[in-house]
Amino acid sequence: MDDRVVIVGAGPAGLAAAWAIRRAGRDPLVLEQADAVAASWRDRHDHLRLNTHRAFSHQPGARIPRRCGPYPARDDYIAYLQEYSAGMRLRLGGVPLHPVSITLRRLPVRWQDATARAVQRLAFGDLGRFGYPRPELGPFTRQRADGVTIAVDDGFARALKAGRVVMKPGIDRFDGPAVRSPTARPAMLSVRTCRRRRPA
Ligand SMILES: Cc1cc2nc3c(=O)[nH]c(=O)nc-3n(C[C@H](O)[C@H](O)[C@H](O)COP(=O)(O)OP(=O)(O)OC[C@H]3O[C@@H](n4cnc5c(N)ncnc54)[C@H](O)[C@@H]3O)c2cc1C
Repeated sequence: MDDRVVIVGAGPAGLAAAWAIRRAGRDPLVLEQADAVAASWRDRHDHLRLNTHRAFSHQPGARIPRRCGPYPARDDYIAYLQEYSAGMRLRLGGVPLHPVSITLRRLPVRWQDATARAVQRLAFGDLGRFGYPRPELGPFTRQRADGVTIAVDDGFARALKAGRVVMKPGIDRFDGPAVRSPTARPAMLSVRTCRRRRPA
């Protein structure tokens, strides 16, 4: 066992790093938040293919099989990465790495929420004064409900306080580059965030 070498993420890059480190004689532990390797590919639509030729898209030490065709399909690429990871030490399904999350993980969820909110307030002050709304659900409740983790980090808090990020009221719909809101005039957005969803 060699827990001192830890790789975060079992995508192509993490697995390539694990391969190289194993080759150098160590046995790294690969931590992956999703329940399987190649998570970013599993999340994509079924007809996706690599847009780079098989010959230029393989991991170190293992070519993509010829039967996958010149531009492998998503499922073939996932199967290839799955096979590539065989024998590697993987810990799937998420491991808390943040000190606060590690400390809180055995507490009831409402205490986790309250503590996370208190820590955020201590770190960044009252962001409500700058228009950042208090979310209805606490962060740990939300994470359990739909897997989404809302992260308020230092850079965001600074930008909000400096007025470089401006909070807009609830978005009703997108209309080309403009955003329609029930309470405000149409606005042009320079940044949008959307959750990816696989079609049913
Ligand atoms: C639609 C699309 C098509 C593409 N097509 C091609 C192509 O044809 N050819 C090509 O060469 N490249 C292509 N790419 C680029 C693609 O991003 C890379 O090929 C590859 O997936 C990137 O690998 P990665 O390991 O760096 O990142 P990812 O594949 O995103 O893997 C990162 C992994 O880390 C995990 N992770 C992240 N944070 C944590 C955490 N805190 N704790 C634990 N785990 C964590 C994630 O769950 C994920 O599994 C494409 C990308 C997209 C989006």
